[in-house]
Amino acid sequence: MPDRRRAVVVGGGYAGLVTARVLADRFDEVTVIERDSVAQSPNPAHRKGTPQSRHPHALLARGARILQELFPGLREELSEAGAPLSDFGCFPMLYPTGWSPSVRTALALQTFSRPLLEAALCRRVMARPTVTVLDETQVEGLVLDQRHRCVTGVRISGHTVRSADLVVIATGRHGRAPTWLTDVGLPEPDILGVDGKLSYTSRVYRRDPVARPDLRASVQATLAPTARRGGAVTAIEGDRWLVCLFGADGEAAPTDPEGFGAYADSLANPHVRHVVRECEPLGELYRYGGLGGRWHRYDRLRPWPGGLVVLGDALCSLNPLYGHGMTVAALQAQLLARALDAGGHDRRGLDRACAAFQRRSPRTLLLPWYLSTSLDLGWRTGDVPLAADLARRYLHHLLRRIPDDPELYRRFLNVQHMVATPLTLLAPPVRLRRRGARP
Ligand SMILES: Cc1cc2nc3c(=O)[nH]c(=O)nc-3n(C[C@H](O)[C@H](O)[C@H](O)COP(=O)(O)OP(=O)(O)OC[C@H]3O[C@@H](n4cnc5c(N)ncnc54)[C@H](O)[C@@H]3O)c2cc1C
Repeated sequence: MPDRRRAVVVGGGYAGLVTARVLADRFDEVTVIERDSVAQSPNPAHRKGTPQSRHPHALLARGARILQELFPGLREELSEAGAPLSDFGCFPMLYPTGWSPSVRTALALQTFSRPLLEAALCRRVMARPTVTVLDETQVEGLVLDQRHRCVTGVRISGHTVRSADLVVIATGRHGRAPTWLTDVGLPEPDILGVDGKLSYTSRVYRRDPVARPDLRASVQATLAPTARRGGAVTAIEGDRWLVCLFGADGEAAPTDPEGFGAYADSLANPHVRHVVRECEPLGELYRYGGLGGRWHRYDRLRPWPGGLVVLGDALCSLNPLYGHGMTVAALQAQLLARALDAGGHDRRGLDRACAAFQRRSPRTLLLPWYLSTSLDLGWRTGDVPLAADLARRYLHHLLRRIPDDPELYRRFLNVQHMVATPLTLLAPPVRLRRRGARP
């Protein structure tokens, strides 16, 4: 009997579902354990375990391409459900240094609510014959073998144990994996943290698709050390706008309609102001604060226990403004698939694959982590590491040039979307356009 019979994925959020998809081809049984109710009616719905679902979720091009490979036809399915598709280079982006130029790119931007995406993924994962979703079930810890070298399952409510050859922890930003490790005598990982004291406050509005059909999204970015306020409007399924007002460095948009409107009025982006002032609100206001970056360095723990993998936000939660979280989780699912395929089918091969995945996981994180944290460190007064300070100065230099340089903007977007290396930004500038008065 091969050792790769049973895998358990803890957490049925975005990363858990994408990972379950790659495990479905590699294990006889995959069980996704989720504490919320998701399996009975996998229709788009907000739920307690993913409070971020009230807020905009842009899927970067690299992540969208991986999802399309793992779930063929997903983009078309989302389009049929009303999720608009456009070119990322064409939507107006207001930096403190000016408007982005409008450029044609190969970077598709599909805008949807997070519940629409998650329900589509859940339905598709549940349709795989090897996958079962065990919902309304909370995992409480790990089970180790007698020699404390290998994870052999998870503990769910009370003394019930579900054994597995592989346990994947995908419990998100507020998951308890470090405690689960120490509870069974394993060491706690080091944590890198950079907190830009960011908050999102969001509300849904009715959208008239005829009024401005070309406008699918518009953003005003925050930027240390002075631009603490920002906002975004994105067109989502059901002819709705999802409006989000950002606050950095402790700033936060109010959660009462008047205060929210006044905060929107204080922004320079006319699209955000227009939607908040002119369109009909369709729901409550929701705020999500404390959105700092936290990277648990499981890659540094030696020896790594066999049969265990930690990924998604449970491994590293990023500042969401740069939109990398879902793409990084998709890259991690791919990395895990490659490690499993290279590891061989016996117990040792599986354990080698787990260690190789965890050791290599920084490859998926280095660019997004350093991009967001070097900018966020700009809110800090006092000591900032030299490398981060240099990276921040270079990014500021790029942002000053972008409004006048469409070719540079195209290259910048390719790097941000993780489809090109940052070295491509070092090519000489092409100045084609004067500082524009978009929109
Ligand atoms: C406000 C905000 C905006 C964002 N915007 C973007 C964006 O524009 N683009 C982007 O790519 N990313 C964005 N992200 C990041 C994105 O949401 C995450 O990267 C992504 O959800 C990570 O998936 P995950 O599965 O690791 O975590 P989650 O999706 O949070 O799922 C974790 C799951 O684990 C379950 N769980 C937790 N503990 C247990 C337990 N003990 N037992 C059973 N189940 C458990 C939870 O109920 C939940 O369902 C944003 C994040 C936030 C907070």
